[in-house]
Amino acid sequence: MPEIIDQLAELTGLRDRDTLDVSLALALRDLLAPELVAVHRVVGEPGDERWQTRARLVPSDITATADTTYFDNGTLPALAEQALWQDCLVNNHTVSVDGDPAVTLFAMPAESGASGVVEVHTSQAIGADVIRLVKGVLRIYRNVHALLDYSERDTLTGLLNRKSFDETFYKMVALGMQASQQLDVADPERRLAVPVRYWLGVIDIDHFKQVNDTFGHLIGDEVLLLLSRVMRGCFRHSDRLYRFGGEEFVVLLRCPTEEDAHAAMERFRVAVREYKFPQVNHVTISVGFTDLRPGDTPSSAVERADKAVYHAKHHGRDQVCSHSVLVSEGLVAPDNRDSDVEFF
Ligand code: GH3
Ligand code: MG
Ligand code: MG
Repeated sequence: MPEIIDQLAELTGLRDRDTLDVSLALALRDLLAPELVAVHRVVGEPGDERWQTRARLVPSDITATADTTYFDNGTLPALAEQALWQDCLVNNHTVSVDGDPAVTLFAMPAESGASGVVEVHTSQAIGADVIRLVKGVLRIYRNVHALLDYSERDTLTGLLNRKSFDETFYKMVALGMQASQQLDVADPERRLAVPVRYWLGVIDIDHFKQVNDTFGHLIGDEVLLLLSRVMRGCFRHSDRLYRFGGEEFVVLLRCPTEEDAHAAMERFRVAVREYKFPQVNHVTISVGFTDLRPGDTPSSAVERADKAVYHAKHHGRDQVCSHSVLVSEGLVAPDNRDSDVEFF
């Protein structure tokens, strides 16, 4: 029992979701001494939801991790491919299957329903008292998640806030470098075909001050909220969407080429342009984007994307500009440090 208190103290002190999943698996391993414990979460768009295994431990493992900054939906199993897990999730109840090993599936509680399944294999069926204890641990875990959500999310739109940006940013820069190096060694051909690249887009609403001046702040806030919904609908579940404050939004996404990144931003621009906002009717956005480069800091990458937004603002607004294209066309100076232009 003292071990579980230690593990819970550890769990509630964490501020990183990835570590939290691994830590939950470790806590349950200490508690149950199982042959296997795994944390499977549901990811993906409604209608195309899939299982992502976030942590998986057998007795000999020291720890377990997963690349959670990105997933390719196509490679993950669909919900129906794991019928028992799906039963546990959908009915939000514990599923026990006798056998060797005995398998117990716990629904991971979420704000509404369940967000995933914890799979435990033990040599003997788990008793009712222990099941209650595990459910208690899962409720604590849910509460820690809810607190993280609260501190990482913007209260108006529910998008991620600026505070959580830096950490994800450094993770993506590191993963981009790691992946390109691995592929480089393993298969140079493939590196050319499917490079792993991350992109940052800065989105600024055009003439938003006019919206506030004409319709008032409440309607302005409604535009921000509705725009964040359009944003969610346009980008993938694995893309990170932020409201940086005011009427400035940011997206971090992974895709192989500049054209793909441009197409994703363009899709969003067109969706906003075509959306009919109550009272205000139509609003447009200016978007600037850049790739993430080795050695980048959040401010150096945001500065490049801001330069592209600035260019869009001064060339008619309602458009997407790529920083590297502007540089190659001689329209923007290549080096941040040489620039003495003030942006925003
Ligand atoms: P531009 O096309 O050059 O971007 O023009 P703009 O009017 O959008 O740009 P500017 O940066 O001058 O004004 C941004 C305005 O956004 C100022 C303020 O009225 C409004 N704003 C900032 N934060 C909020 C907010 O949280 N809610 C509302 N309703 N308005 C906000
Ligand atoms: Mg602005
Ligand atoms: Mg603006």
